[in-house]
Amino acid sequence: MSSDVISGSCLCGEATYEITGNMGIFQYCHCSRCRKFTGSTYASNLFVSPDQFKWVKGESIVGTYSPKETKYFATAFCKNCGSSLPWRSKGGKVVVIPAGTLDGNPGIKPHQNIFCASKAEWYKASSELPEYDELPKK
Ligand SMILES: [Zn+2]
Ligand SMILES: [Zn+2]
Repeated sequence: MSSDVISGSCLCGEATYEITGNMGIFQYCHCSRCRKFTGSTYASNLFVSPDQFKWVKGESIVGTYSPKETKYFATAFCKNCGSSLPWRSKGGKVVVIPAGTLDGNPGIKPHQNIFCASKAEWYKASSELPEYDELPKK
């Protein structure tokens, strides 16, 4: 747990934000919506309350998308570079931080996987795969 300020940003750096205070839930979400939004195996999401979150710059270039049929899920992204960005849940109770956009260490690690019944058919845990420090040589 940490009360330090942790900043985050999109790929182009035009949108930046800060979070403060104790981090709550940190989890991997395997739902099909998170897979589409991230373009990846699962989303790595950290949850904070709205009063722990603020945009530092670039809020005007943050786009949002909110599927009609969802209860909580929405998304936000940089209109310049397309990166995922923190989004406020429908109803506004939490801000969901895509952890890959953090520039600092939140001080906690993910503690659960959710929507595992929706895992991609091609899912394989990264711990089961060989590791290379950089691009492997051919
Ligand atoms: Zn950007
Ligand atoms: Zn999800």
